[in-house]
Amino acid sequence: MNYQHLIEKIYQEVKPSIGKGKVANYIPALERVDVNSFGFAMRTKSGEEYFVGEALKPFSTQSISKLLTLVLCLNNDDSVLENKVGLEPSGSAFNSLVQLEYENGIPRNPFINAGALVITDILLSQYTNPEDEILFFARELAQNHGINYNIEVRNSEKETGFRNAALVNFMKSYGNIHNDVERVLDCYFTQCSLEMSCLDLVRAFSFLANNGTHSNGQHILSYRQNKKVNSLLLTCGTYDAVGKFAYRVGLPAKSGVGGGIIAVIPNEMTLAVWSPGLDKSGNSVVGSLFLELFTTYTGKSIF
Ligand code: GLU
Repeated sequence: MNYQHLIEKIYQEVKPSIGKGKVANYIPALERVDVNSFGFAMRTKSGEEYFVGEALKPFSTQSISKLLTLVLCLNNDDSVLENKVGLEPSGSAFNSLVQLEYENGIPRNPFINAGALVITDILLSQYTNPEDEILFFARELAQNHGINYNIEVRNSEKETGFRNAALVNFMKSYGNIHNDVERVLDCYFTQCSLEMSCLDLVRAFSFLANNGTHSNGQHILSYRQNKKVNSLLLTCGTYDAVGKFAYRVGLPAKSGVGGGIIAVIPNEMTLAVWSPGLDKSGNSVVGSLFLELFTTYTGKSIF
């Protein structure tokens, strides 16, 4: 298949939709991003790369960082997740507090904010400086030592992150957070400010399409762990719209309010798309559309 030709054709098809949706504005620094930005990259299991648009431009990964921290956590020891975080779709918004009270401070899954905050707390117990570990991990996986946090975005979220503060405090009251609340929030806001490009993302997460083995040969996850992560991406990776996303796109994926989506075609390739206009659930409008057309034209959804 001529992938370069195909992605250019899809780019032309989605162009009229670029600019639709709303840029996340609850984090003031994100509001300044141009809603007309667009990038796409893909990397096949054998290492071929194709891209279109602003695929090399770093953007705010936001919730995509939750995938990175989950993998880092599993990479250490997957038993640490037991009894601390669930494995079910949340059925509510990514920053919702309601379910936590019904379920005694145990978040539904590691990809909603509450679940990601628990993972950050676990990393804080495992490492003296998890911010550095997360950054080194991202750089090593993407083979790009220019990857960095955006301190302006971090500070902006810190000033307005009252809901995340409420989530951590609430879970702490149930004994599901072990480190200092301020320290957990600091680390979480920093990880969310990580900037990567579409190309960085497809390189970094190439192991998800290769049973846990990175294209440089490094074993990042076991086959079993990799299967679990991809399942979680399918059932919990795209906010409270996972059903619709699976219906339209049919791939394990993680989205972020920065407008990025990383998707996996197991045993074939990783795809990353960035377009900051979001739908009501927080998924990129054009990113979802691009991926939908990609799986439709290639016949490569997992279903
Ligand atoms: N930093 C964002 C928050 O906690 C991440 C949200 C997201 O991308 O889903 O609200």
